[in-house]
Amino acid sequence: MAEVLVLIDHVDGQVKKPTYELLTLAAKLGEPSAVFIGGADAAAGAADAVKAYGAEKVYAIDDAQIKGYLVAPKAEALAQLAGTASPAAILLPSSAENKEVAARLAIKLDSGLITDAVDIDDSGVATQSVFAGNFTVKGKVSKGTPIITVKPNSAAPVEKAGAAAVTPFEVTISDAAKTAQIVASQPRQASGRPELTEAAIVVSGGRGTGGDFSAVEGLADALGAAVGASRAAVDSGWMPHTFQVGQTGKTVSPQLYVANGISGAIQHRAGMQTSKTIVAVNKDEEAPIFELVDFGVVGDLHAVLPAVTDAVKAAKG
Ligand code: FAD
Repeated sequence: MAEVLVLIDHVDGQVKKPTYELLTLAAKLGEPSAVFIGGADAAAGAADAVKAYGAEKVYAIDDAQIKGYLVAPKAEALAQLAGTASPAAILLPSSAENKEVAARLAIKLDSGLITDAVDIDDSGVATQSVFAGNFTVKGKVSKGTPIITVKPNSAAPVEKAGAAAVTPFEVTISDAAKTAQIVASQPRQASGRPELTEAAIVVSGGRGTGGDFSAVEGLADALGAAVGASRAAVDSGWMPHTFQVGQTGKTVSPQLYVANGISGAIQHRAGMQTSKTIVAVNKDEEAPIFELVDFGVVGDLHAVLPAVTDAVKAAKG
């Protein structure tokens, strides 16, 4: 069976959940092999993590020539690996950086590329949500090695034992790929909450919060969720732009999205309508968000959310 390469998403060797989702999707297409680009000392730990999700091999690419630069060296490294492994497909977790890596890789391999897939079936047909979520498109790469970036939370990770044999892979990065260097990077402020685009649950607030996000944050913390915001909340200065969900903010696709005091404008929907289950709390029963929801509560969020938060805490014991 041909290999399917999955780029491991990690922070300092800590493997992130989208990797497991991609390994699960990769198993539909062939034999999953994970690709770790990072410190040589961290490869064994990463291999341990992906072992439980069916990775038969873990290609370890030392990032000594890669980490101080922007995306070009990563694309070059993956192209060299693809040249040796001849994979049936290459899957990358969707992120701004990985989409650029994928695009450069597609050029180098003279292959087709699909970005932001939300599903892949066993014949390689990828599903995308396009035009602000108004259309669902199914597509298949017909040229070269299919390269597909997949949005976080697109598949439920399925545990399956794999050998996860660490295979060091030497790369030679050209000077041409090292023309853009990272001069400074600022880590995201640690909030203790999951990253918005990767969270399984997102609890968002809009203008209806009146600027008081405490009820939204209280429910988010009880559920272990990320906090999101509408543009109205961001434009009012209540939340930073990094929290904005929508056309000009982040696109999220969690298992559960809870919209509180958000009317459901098309630009907000564009960032959240592929969520698996949508719940809204809004005091206006005519609010357009209710056209979209699986469950809707007509009420004041400042009364409803604390009650739900208490119920969640009680249920968790
Ligand atoms: P509103 O539309 O004012 O809705 C507030 C809701 O809260 C109402 O439905 C009200 O009934 C309810 N409410 C009030 N008080 C309470 C209460 N106590 N309890 C419960 N419910 C209550 N918007 C985004 O969100 N993301 C984007 O990325 C984005 N990009 C945009 C790009 C462009 C080019 C443009 C033109 C607009 C964009 N917008 C975006 C803005 C978008 O059109 C809406 O203006 C915005 O989403 C409205 O935010 P909101 O739902 O919080 O506020």
